[in-house]
Amino acid sequence: MTLPADLPVVDHHCHLSPGGEGVEAARRFQRQGGTHLFLTTHNWNHRPLRSVDDYQTQFEEIEELGRRIRADTHVATSLVVAPYPVDLLETSDALGLGEAVEVQMQSLDLAGRWIREHRAVALGEVGWPHFPIPEDRQKAARQVFQHALEVARDVGCPAVVHSGDLTAEGYAAMAGLAHAAGLSPERVIKHYARTYLPRDERSGITPSFLARREAFAEALADGGPWFLETDFLDDPRRPGAVLDIATVPRRAAWIARERPELLDRLRIPFVESVRKVYGFTPERAPEESR
Ligand SMILES: [Zn+2]
Repeated sequence: MTLPADLPVVDHHCHLSPGGEGVEAARRFQRQGGTHLFLTTHNWNHRPLRSVDDYQTQFEEIEELGRRIRADTHVATSLVVAPYPVDLLETSDALGLGEAVEVQMQSLDLAGRWIREHRAVALGEVGWPHFPIPEDRQKAARQVFQHALEVARDVGCPAVVHSGDLTAEGYAAMAGLAHAAGLSPERVIKHYARTYLPRDERSGITPSFLARREAFAEALADGGPWFLETDFLDDPRRPGAVLDIATVPRRAAWIARERPELLDRLRIPFVESVRKVYGFTPERAPEESR
């Protein structure tokens, strides 16, 4: 069996870089049956970002890459923009912690304006470093994250969160922060969810599961909302990391081939969850039907 002609195939979180595989990666994604990429900005230059202007430039570069992908392929792209949380550390080394916090806060405001102008669909990645850091930086990262949730609330968009692995307690704490900021937990997305946790242990937070076989197999029985992602980094220094860009369409093709009775379940991550959390419906153009 093949995939239904009207079913979009969505990678909810990947990174493509101007200096990496870029458009060619989107083409590979399309060849395997992929139709929609959520393109998340990150620091591909591996240099500390020192100002809001640096982030503005970075956002413009990913916007330009998205434009080229749409011009050269049938892949639809949605942009997710924010100052990457781990950047805070390098910027602090360069400018001092206070100034670094200021740069991140103002860049979140900039990201909020991009969403208002419909140049991007969500704030991301926001959150905090996934490894232990000194107390003062930890506190600063939390402060920046709280501002991110407030910006998401004000502009009415989802926040895509970078953090360490979350247990049920971690999800509950994140939901608490969302509530405190006046944001629905459903619009707070835990990206890079490596292990499946059932719905009643997620406190309303939406997981974006890494498209590994195990988590995917378990998620298929889940009513959602949930997403699938590769977190493809498109970094020549880490080829193929985290998962290859072709992974999500391959998983979908596997379902069509081996478990066609589950095909309908794919509408949860690819259609219904996008509609529920982002408020739009990814659609396939008729000419790209298989
Ligand atoms: Zn990422």
